[in-house]
Amino acid sequence: MADFLVLGAGMVGISAALALQAQGHAVRVIDQRGPGEETSHGNAGVIQAEARAPYAMPRDLATLLRYGLGRSNDFRLDPAVLPGSARALLDYFRHSAPARYAQVIPHYAALIARATADHGTLVADAGADALIRRTGLGEIYETAQDFDARAQTATDFAETHGLALRCVAGSDLRTEEPALTRSPAGAIVWDESWSTSDPGALVRAYAKLFEARGGTILQSAVHQITETVTGWRVDRDGGHLSAEHLVVALGPWSPALLKHLGYRVPMVMKRGYHGHYDMQGKLARPYLLADHGVVMSTMARGLRITTGAHLARTTAPQNLAQLTHGAAAAGALVGLNGPVPDSQWQGVRPCLPRMLPMVGRAPRHDKLWFNFGHGHQGLTLGPTTGALLADIVDGRDDALTRALAP
Ligand SMILES: Cc1cc2nc3c(=O)[nH]c(=O)nc-3n(C[C@H](O)[C@H](O)[C@H](O)COP(=O)(O)OP(=O)(O)OC[C@H]3O[C@@H](n4cnc5c(N)ncnc54)[C@H](O)[C@@H]3O)c2cc1C
Repeated sequence: MADFLVLGAGMVGISAALALQAQGHAVRVIDQRGPGEETSHGNAGVIQAEARAPYAMPRDLATLLRYGLGRSNDFRLDPAVLPGSARALLDYFRHSAPARYAQVIPHYAALIARATADHGTLVADAGADALIRRTGLGEIYETAQDFDARAQTATDFAETHGLALRCVAGSDLRTEEPALTRSPAGAIVWDESWSTSDPGALVRAYAKLFEARGGTILQSAVHQITETVTGWRVDRDGGHLSAEHLVVALGPWSPALLKHLGYRVPMVMKRGYHGHYDMQGKLARPYLLADHGVVMSTMARGLRITTGAHLARTTAPQNLAQLTHGAAAAGALVGLNGPVPDSQWQGVRPCLPRMLPMVGRAPRHDKLWFNFGHGHQGLTLGPTTGALLADIVDGRDDALTRALAP
């Protein structure tokens, strides 16, 4: 049994803590906030069984121009971000080349394929079933042309990955979803995906399970980590801590903490926003509004609208254009009474250029473990990469763990 300190109490850190604890290790978690209050709170809440391939960077000129000129609501680019992110973006571009991307997909698919089962165990153990909907994820299309085109590519994708898929006419979707006020052209429904009505509460439920099993969660900001003879020293608000092993699970903040140890981790910081809206009725499942690049989902505080990516410097001011556009698009499909006060949020998807999270032993330090870079699907993948990390710590070595190695 070893002594572990996990840095970060998001979905990734708490899930890793539970998995290490289950292997018999003594585990503490430290976070400057409460569990699940940052990225793991603000997301669209989808446990994405259908996401068998990660998001590659488009490489065709027409799409890049559309993005560059701000003609798309699913992606916005502030040109000021380019100098500071050049390396990460170039790496992302390189790894998105068809041949390289094709090598990543089987690993990503293997992770995603077990994600609902890994959540299922924790949901049952944490008594969190009330937070989970096993009702799928939909994609709504406004024109018959787009719906037909997507039905074809989605059907091919579903066949390749053995996924269940339904192509639903707009009028039939209205029967399934009485809260819709009109019929779109159609929807693709991935029935095997799950969602949560409150992603932050789901992390908190898992955190309570970790504590009930004897784990400790400390609330304090970590400033620096230093290698010692026996393990690690963690400088934090109000003093320092010692631990034999450290797990870095700080999501978008991971590269900054590792910099002084000599690690240069290029991360594409894809900012996203959400807002809640008071809605007439409820939706059975979340929907991607494909023509508008937002997801709408009934959550604890109302209809949560979550935007696509905004590539901007960390210090750049909030730009709610994508959210405003998304709310108008949602309001044309469901009855909205107006925004819920103080319900807007912004955060960052921690995306690595290789499009796989880094899970495993730090390349140049003993007893230091990485578990970050879950990009667009960290809510989905937290329990899975946590279990894999615990296996790696105990000596597992196979094609998947080698693909995730930092
Ligand atoms: C708009 C949006 C929509 C998304 N939708 C989905 C979705 O539908 N499904 C899905 O699977 N994923 C989704 N994601 C991605 C997902 O939210 C992330 O991949 C995931 O939350 C990352 O989890 P994490 O635990 O790595 O990071 P976080 O949840 O950010 O946790 C990191 C923790 O580190 C702590 N921390 C940082 N610095 C310090 C420090 N110095 N000292 C102490 N603590 C520190 C923070 O307080 C935080 O709690 C979405 C993301 C965004 C932005």
